Amino acid sequence: MNQQLIARPVADLSRLVRGPVHRPGDDEYDTQRASLNPSFDAHPWVIAEATSAADVRAAVAWARVHDLPVAVQSTGHGTHVPSDGGLLLKTTRMRTVLVDPDRRIAKVGAGAVWGDVLAAAAPFGLAPVSGSSPTVGVAGFTMGGGLGSLSRKHGFGADNLLRADVVTAAGDLVTATPDRNPGLFWAVRGGGGNFGVTTSLEIRLHPVAEVFAGQALFPISHAAALLTAYRDYAPVMPDELTCTIALFGGYVAVRATYLGDEGEARRALRPLWPGAPVRDTFAEVTYPQASVPGTAPRNFELFTSVSDELVDTVIGVASAANAVEVRYWGGAMARPAAGAGPVGHRDVPFSVTVDGPESAASSLWPHATGGSFLNFLHDPAAVETAYTAADYQRLREIKSACDPANVFQHNMNIRPA
Ligand SMILES: Cc1cc2nc3c(=O)[nH]c(=O)nc-3n(C[C@H](O)[C@H](O)[C@H](O)COP(=O)(O)OP(=O)(O)OC[C@H]3O[C@@H](n4cnc5c(N)ncnc54)[C@H](O)[C@@H]3O)c2cc1C
Repeated sequence: MNQQLIARPVADLSRLVRGPVHRPGDDEYDTQRASLNPSFDAHPWVIAEATSAADVRAAVAWARVHDLPVAVQSTGHGTHVPSDGGLLLKTTRMRTVLVDPDRRIAKVGAGAVWGDVLAAAAPFGLAPVSGSSPTVGVAGFTMGGGLGSLSRKHGFGADNLLRADVVTAAGDLVTATPDRNPGLFWAVRGGGGNFGVTTSLEIRLHPVAEVFAGQALFPISHAAALLTAYRDYAPVMPDELTCTIALFGGYVAVRATYLGDEGEARRALRPLWPGAPVRDTFAEVTYPQASVPGTAPRNFELFTSVSDELVDTVIGVASAANAVEVRYWGGAMARPAAGAGPVGHRDVPFSVTVDGPESAASSLWPHATGGSFLNFLHDPAAVETAYTAADYQRLREIKSACDPANVFQHNMNIRPA
């Protein structure tokens, strides 16, 4: 294409969207295309920074006319597919958060991060089902499932989505609720960014007062006993308790958040307390202050049960990895309301996250289900493993209806049926 032909459509795009537009060679292009994922170096054909739903509509319609795929990015935390050769539509500037304390909901722009919502909701004693990091985007987190320390009590982030406004591949702005576009509403509660660009979300908030949260370290010699105690206790532990067992650096750690005061929390944690800890960061804090360390999901596997053999395998994996973390999910996540979205494998209770090379994690594979969780998945070729077969088929059918040409393909892609 000669330079004039390239320049003309980009000039059109700049006229159509109010936010800035960047082409290779522009000052801001390299800053805006940069990803948090160091393993790839995306080169979109053009980048548009949307400031409103109208900008999003205009940019998507423009991309259709010019036959360009559209990638959507807010923070870049969950971007695993480079936007090479397409339109990179950034929502970062759409960061409004409005809290309605009477209805206990927040209306959140596509570029908002959890820190924004936590700050806006806390003065009302309310909190969202957010994840471990305040810098993660609300839209990507929620549409990818959303696991947080309120999830055992209140479900996945996706279960707390009440409404999404979505610009479809045709450039239409539609509303998805249980009554309006119910198929799309089902799909965005776990199917990721495959069905359009979500311009705003309405999410449920929950009353949350003080929480008791932290990490206690014990000598690694307690690992087998603690993992076995956790396996037996986790299915009956209260929904107020979110707890994992992590192995790293010669320690076994109990990591937990309890929704309640210290006395109740200590009682709930007693079966998982094998003596005096080497270090203990547990404290009563407000929900936004609660900071429990996590394990980077370089490898992630799901398990229907934890056998004694799996306990030994986890301990072996820990010796070759930076960290290994065992989690029991369950609670409200395993009790979906009628019509709940396709998020996760709700009937599979245990997961093991390994921050370490595949060679370290591979001994877990014979015990694992082969399933995954979209938000912790890094391999775009394995998206199907995040769903049950029936849900995946339905997602592909909804994709066919919403985006038959797969305009939104630079993502954890679900191909049209
Ligand atoms: C430090 C860290 C901690 C994390 N902790 C948790 C956790 O506790 N629980 C959990 O469940 N996950 C967690 N995650 C995973 C995280 O939820 C996903 O990576 C999520 O995709 C990030 O969303 P984002 O908007 O910040 O990222 P982005 O890279 O901006 O977006 C990720 C993808 O979401 C889609 N998307 C984003 N916005 C839109 C939109 N408006 N319309 C359509 N599609 C859109 C796109 O497909 C995009 O590729 C964590 C990730 C990190 C890096």
